[in-house]
Amino acid sequence: MEISRSKWDSFIKCPLCFYLLEKHQIKPPSTPGHPINSRVDALLKKNWWIRAKGEPHPIFKEYNLNFVPYNGLDPETLKKYRFNRSGVRAKSKKTGIEIFGALDDLWLNKDTNEIVVLDYKATSNKKLGDYTSSDKHYHKSYLRQLDFYAYLLKLNDFKVHDIGYWLICNAQDESQKTFNKKVNFKTTLLSYKLKTDYIEDTLVDLKACLESDKMPKSGSDCDNCRWYDEKLILKKGDNDENIKAIEIINALLPSLVEMVKMQSNAKISNESDTKKFKELMKKNENEFKNLKKKLEEIEWAKKLPVHIAIKNSQWRKDYPHI
Ligand code: SF4
Repeated sequence: MEISRSKWDSFIKCPLCFYLLEKHQIKPPSTPGHPINSRVDALLKKNWWIRAKGEPHPIFKEYNLNFVPYNGLDPETLKKYRFNRSGVRAKSKKTGIEIFGALDDLWLNKDTNEIVVLDYKATSNKKLGDYTSSDKHYHKSYLRQLDFYAYLLKLNDFKVHDIGYWLICNAQDESQKTFNKKVNFKTTLLSYKLKTDYIEDTLVDLKACLESDKMPKSGSDCDNCRWYDEKLILKKGDNDENIKAIEIINALLPSLVEMVKMQSNAKISNESDTKKFKELMKKNENEFKNLKKKLEEIEWAKKLPVHIAIKNSQWRKDYPHI
């Protein structure tokens, strides 16, 4: 099994979304990308002349840092480290999962001879906050991103400087008055004391989540599921047919769940289990006929696949593993 940095981060943000995608290939609704940010990243990565000369970037001098771009990797390896699908790779110590992540760049602290972890960020903010003290979820994700890179490098036997950096390009140059096909950026460096000691435990949780048949709870980073559940409650109050359908589902489906559970746990492999399964089918035959008939009578249910009706019912909360 292999897990990328972004998948690991998505697990931390919301185990439910991670589980649905990785275990059941249920994709969340797509969102637009960040092409302008990606373009800035790509241009920053092209600063080859600085690397080739081994000279410090002017910004290091501005921040009084004795850093230079790290020159210890051959161009092919650097390219691999930067490419999303390859990245820096290592085996997690506690889980054996192959973890990987693509770096933006690497610097060298000449005072300590340690590798410096960094990430490029492009933004447009009048007040550029400090990510390290921010309570915004996506800023917390930035912190984890640096932690993860540092951990990958440590596992690859690099001596890693314990402070990581963001090179932030902020499109808020007040001296720019007109567009004229250009946007000026101000560049700043923001530092962060890296933490890597929590990563293995999160990977243990991630692995357990993937191996479990039980759906995990959603995380606190995203409000969509809360919004969805609240919307359903409201809809239920407005629509008699919905109430009727949900009540029927809640009353009849537990038996169906028992059957699905037996099937999915592959517990019907021997003769006695097969017998048990047939008995359960027989016992609930009338209930299923009733359910089918009643659902057919309801306009709402006719329009929706049954699995959506199931998903929407209170019953889902009692049987989250299905
Ligand atoms: S809370 Fe958000 S991230 Fe989590 S499962 Fe729901 S939609 Fe996905």
